Amino acid sequence: MYQAILLRFGEISLKGNNRSFFVHKLIKNIKTVLKNTADSRIERTYGRIYIYPENNMEKIIERLKMVPGIVSLSPTAITSLNYEDVKKTTLEVFKDSVDNYPTTFKVETHRANKKYQLTSPEISRDIGAYLLQNINHQDNKLTVDVHNPAHTLNIEVRKERIFIYTRVIQGIGGLPIGTSGKGLLLLSGGIDSPVAGWSSLKRGMTIDAIYFHSPPYTGERAKEKVIELAQILSKHSGRIKLYLSHFTDIQMAIQKNCPPKYNITIMRRIMFQIADRIARENNYLALVTGESIGQVASQTLESMQVINAVTNLPVIRPLIAMDKTEIIDIARKIGTYKTSILPYEDCCTLFVPKHPVTKPRLSDTINAETKLDIEELLTQAMEKIETVILE
Ligand code: ATP
Ligand code: MG
Repeated sequence: MYQAILLRFGEISLKGNNRSFFVHKLIKNIKTVLKNTADSRIERTYGRIYIYPENNMEKIIERLKMVPGIVSLSPTAITSLNYEDVKKTTLEVFKDSVDNYPTTFKVETHRANKKYQLTSPEISRDIGAYLLQNINHQDNKLTVDVHNPAHTLNIEVRKERIFIYTRVIQGIGGLPIGTSGKGLLLLSGGIDSPVAGWSSLKRGMTIDAIYFHSPPYTGERAKEKVIELAQILSKHSGRIKLYLSHFTDIQMAIQKNCPPKYNITIMRRIMFQIADRIARENNYLALVTGESIGQVASQTLESMQVINAVTNLPVIRPLIAMDKTEIIDIARKIGTYKTSILPYEDCCTLFVPKHPVTKPRLSDTINAETKLDIEELLTQAMEKIETVILE
């Protein structure tokens, strides 16, 4: 019954002169997301985007619901200008969209084609009466409410065709990926950092990712898991470059030279410094992490402050105020949850001391680092970086 999907983009329309840039990016992202799903023609008219899928309508809607920048979608039927055709189709569309009665509705007609045989109010009135006549009976109590209807049947009369839709499906909102600059995500194998990556994509950022691993203490499968997570994120974003940083020597040096209770704090500070260098060499404007206040010892504000002190880049923590249950909900929605809960150790769990300091002070931490040749460790780590491209 439906031939097209109408897409609405909210915030983008606020962007004045940039609007065309935003819409252009959005269309490009839609093409990327749909590239394996179907052949779809995309049309941009009257400040809207229409997709004409060859097939797989519902699957395509599911994919588009998760594309940042799309506020809502409507499966849309398209008829000829023949009025009998229009009537028949409005009834089909309405029946398909509404299954809970009693309910209220109105018909809203927009007539771009001023030569059409009926005016907008005439069409709305006539179709409204027709729907009442054909739907309203004892079991299906239907009434007109022009001020606050539960459903609106929309009719758009164009030059050669008429568009009809009722269902409005929520999209994810946000801004098109690629409109807000490029960040570097610290991606572990956990639940949180992939969600943090997704959240920054949702606000229009582009991301690449870095993973620190410590073979042989962390296995090949832990690495595969992170690659898989980056792969899933790349299905949303189009392409992700994953930097793999060999972290074993650094872990060992910390074990050997620093008081155990500072291990995690120091390890994080060095991770941030490596990420900072990669960011500066490759023009990433910010680091992104999956930290959330109070979740674990290293995520107190005191810890964050000490860890953060090694970089001047903005560190974006999209999950900072979220609860674990909210984070898990998103992880499920974006498809990373099942992979994240696979039980392979990441490098941090192996070197966790019994009593990590939860409120480190910067001066004490710097003292705890004095025996490390951090500059040398960083130089070596930078030489050993590998990359994988996921798309
Ligand atoms: P996650 O679920 O993302 O692993 P977490 O709750 O386990 O997070 P931590 O282990 O304290 O939290 O890590 C905090 C953040 O530091 C992570 O969200 C991630 O951004 C980064 N991080 C931790 N370990 C690594 C790693 N091995 N490689 C890359 N980033 C890491
Ligand atoms: Mg973790």
